[in-house]
Amino acid sequence: MNIKIKHKEIKAISSLAKKLDIETYLVGGYVRDLILGIECTDIDIMVIGDAITFANKVAKHFDTKLSAIYKNFGTALLNINKLKIEFASARKESYKKDSRKPDIVLSNLKDDLSRRDFTINALAFSINRASEVIDLFEGLKDLKKGIIKTPLNPEKTFDDDPLRMLRAIRFASRFNFSIEENALNAIAKYRNRLKDNIVSQERITNEFLQILESETPSVGLNLLYLTGLLDIVFPEVSKLAGIDQRKDFHHKDVFHHILQVVDNTSNKTDNVWLRFTALVHDIAKPKTKRFIEGTGWTFHGHEELGARMMKKIFERMRLPMIHLEYVEKLIRLHLRPIPLASEDVTDSAIRRLAAEAGEDLVDLLILCRADITSKNPEKMKKFMRNYEIIEKKIVEVQEKDKLRNFQSPVRGDEIMEICNLNPCKTVGTIKKAIEEAILDGIIPNEYEAAKEYLFKIKDDILKSAKNKI
Ligand code: ATP
Ligand code: MG
Repeated sequence: MNIKIKHKEIKAISSLAKKLDIETYLVGGYVRDLILGIECTDIDIMVIGDAITFANKVAKHFDTKLSAIYKNFGTALLNINKLKIEFASARKESYKKDSRKPDIVLSNLKDDLSRRDFTINALAFSINRASEVIDLFEGLKDLKKGIIKTPLNPEKTFDDDPLRMLRAIRFASRFNFSIEENALNAIAKYRNRLKDNIVSQERITNEFLQILESETPSVGLNLLYLTGLLDIVFPEVSKLAGIDQRKDFHHKDVFHHILQVVDNTSNKTDNVWLRFTALVHDIAKPKTKRFIEGTGWTFHGHEELGARMMKKIFERMRLPMIHLEYVEKLIRLHLRPIPLASEDVTDSAIRRLAAEAGEDLVDLLILCRADITSKNPEKMKKFMRNYEIIEKKIVEVQEKDKLRNFQSPVRGDEIMEICNLNPCKTVGTIKKAIEEAILDGIIPNEYEAAKEYLFKIKDDILKSAKNKI
């Protein structure tokens, strides 16, 4: 298979490699994504020999400097236009039990490709001479069949670097691929390696958020659950499995219901924090679960307790604290819209929810709609209709509020001066008459028109006011 490079920067690097006769390859995600037809700006270039020297020559060619050089790893980074290009020397790696950072020895193409995590990431493409895609581990076949597989023994692969287990699930989720059986079993077997503190929490969380960012996050979340990794990465979510709910509302246990809610939410938004909220909005259900005779399972107060659980979870997972308030707020409010569909609901109840949700009201309603996972089409229709009613009511109340806040462009002071009045009821009457004329479309909502209208009506109003006295 041949591939066509589109980026002019890569073409220039290719010409330079040819001119200098340096053996260089595109590798990893860039080759994979090019074959899948996905835009990729994160580029890995493998150099047989000294990558840093070559990277310096490339930087010079572009009349710029390298962004970073990592002498110990034999790698260098060049940011150019929108591209992030990493140069690395071909290497062989060996691992120690207490670290996922390997000892590195410079080596050849084959060694470098075999140390890579998955066959689909172990493709290479020469840029210093004409070639086909180099595919030592049947990565092209796996790419076509949609399979995540390790080039070498999966148990050793995951034991050496446990982060790869999460990467496997992240790629499976991102591309909707399946994980080859031996690799999947190896993940389940080696899952506890993730507890050995050799992978930083930041890296774990980064993979987890990427799973949530994928098109159908339930693919990855379900794999995390099936392999037992979810117990380690996010035990509170894992505990939702097996929690029964009222059958008239939900046909699945809480975890499987949540998977559906996350997918529903992801169909509507790329906002990872809204997706995250969808994942955690029922997180306190196991802690609030009670069986009430005649009603069934209840989870009274789970929205408040769930919101309160978030701070600790954010801290533990090293999630960015700036998103905490948003997540807490939506969890706390997620049940509030439901009763607003009833006919006797007051304007003030609607107004209060709109005010509390503030700019996140739209997101709250996305979450609420996503939360409907009934398999009964009649119920589904009814619940969805309720949200339409609620949305309509919110719009109506907001319209009314706007009118209430509406003010004549000619203000009280000016009315008093022109009509020679002290502060009195008549000032309000005149102001109201101007406002009504604007609302009725008799005059435009503009100062000059309002003033002209004032002159037109003032004598009549003043006369009738005098008569009343
Ligand atoms: P992405 O689209 O997320 O950037 P990627 O495949 O390019 O995906 P990177 O993390 O950018 O992933 O890594 C580039 C390449 O380096 C991978 O394709 C893979 O060949 C190799 N690689 C990265 N991390 C590991 C790892 N932990 N173990 C083995 N190989 C890895
Ligand atoms: Mg990459």
